[in-house]
Amino acid sequence: MIPINRPWIDNEEKQEVIKVLDENALTSASRNGGKRVQEFESSLRTFLNVKHAISVNSGTAALHAALLALDIKTGDEVLLPSFTFVATANSVIASGAKPVFVDINTKDYTIDLHDLKRKISKKSKAIIPVHLYGHPSDLCELNEIANQYSFYIIEDACQSLGSLYKNKQTGTFGTMGCFSMYASKVLTAGEGGAIVTNDDKLADTLKMIRNHGMVEGYDTQMLGLNYRLPELSAAIAKIQMKKLKTILNLRRQNSLLLSNLLETIISKYNIKIPEEDQIKKFNWYLYTLAFNNPNNITLRDYIKKKLIENGIGAAVYYDPPVHKTPFYQKFSMNNDLQNTNWSSKHVLSLPVHPGVTEMDIQNMVNILKRELQNIL
Ligand SMILES: *Cc1c(COP(=O)(O)O)cnc(C)c1O
Repeated sequence: MIPINRPWIDNEEKQEVIKVLDENALTSASRNGGKRVQEFESSLRTFLNVKHAISVNSGTAALHAALLALDIKTGDEVLLPSFTFVATANSVIASGAKPVFVDINTKDYTIDLHDLKRKISKKSKAIIPVHLYGHPSDLCELNEIANQYSFYIIEDACQSLGSLYKNKQTGTFGTMGCFSMYASKVLTAGEGGAIVTNDDKLADTLKMIRNHGMVEGYDTQMLGLNYRLPELSAAIAKIQMKKLKTILNLRRQNSLLLSNLLETIISKYNIKIPEEDQIKKFNWYLYTLAFNNPNNITLRDYIKKKLIENGIGAAVYYDPPVHKTPFYQKFSMNNDLQNTNWSSKHVLSLPVHPGVTEMDIQNMVNILKRELQNIL
């Protein structure tokens, strides 16, 4: 089976992990963290061209820490898409604020600007655009709206490490940007995350939040938690950073080949493929198709099943969308999210990670062609 994503671990990561074990330096509760934490943060800063990077132990922790750093709390509202991994919304709930779900556009599945404007209220404190599948949200327009209504932007860049908007890294446009190093992500530490910002004061606050609100130790100044990244994870992440450019190139190569091979069938079968434009460049974290055939509404599920039967780990992100999960359904929120609902039933992601070969892609396309021909 070719999984939808798979970590790419070499000997160098293993050696670095062993070094951490040998040095008996598993973690550090000092303000700036351990040696590997600092080395990883430094290379992330350089890659993103941003002033501060604060590593934490998950993308969820990164989002929650960002909200805490802005003092977002009960009574506040945070605008975010429902078409995302549930962590985005959970971090808002954890802060005490109310998540207000905004619809997406069906061009690239990022937050819809018209629906966003409709949902802004006096209580809106922040917006969390999600660069889903590695597709950058409309960051220029979002910055304008944020300035106009004076609220913060926390970018959920957990899926978009390496994606560019106007040649600038996603995660570096907002007040803060949040990244994840979960096992399936473009760059992995097993578990891990980071917040990046150009704001010195927020960087200081974030370092406190990841360490129980302490500065020197046992001097808690604000609410913080244990969000520290262990040295073992930082060791993996640090080495992964060295091959990030290679990872991104291989993903791009695979995705462009896939698009080329699909060219002949997309209009025949009403398939929408992901397309970059002059402004948005993808990291190709997920290659996501949409099956838009009006005569066969369960086509997506059928094709997914056939691909899996043939060893291709096709996957759906996300069905259900957050607002339709049992926990979030309990909030009777304004949930007229047409494009979200449509997308959750029509999208399908295919593997394009560095472990996928040219032959795998050829095979994927052949299966797709065969199955579509059979059923339509
Ligand atoms: C992975 C992910 C997260 C959470 O990251 P974890 O490291 O798993 O906590 C948040 N948002 C999005 C969009 C993600 O894909």
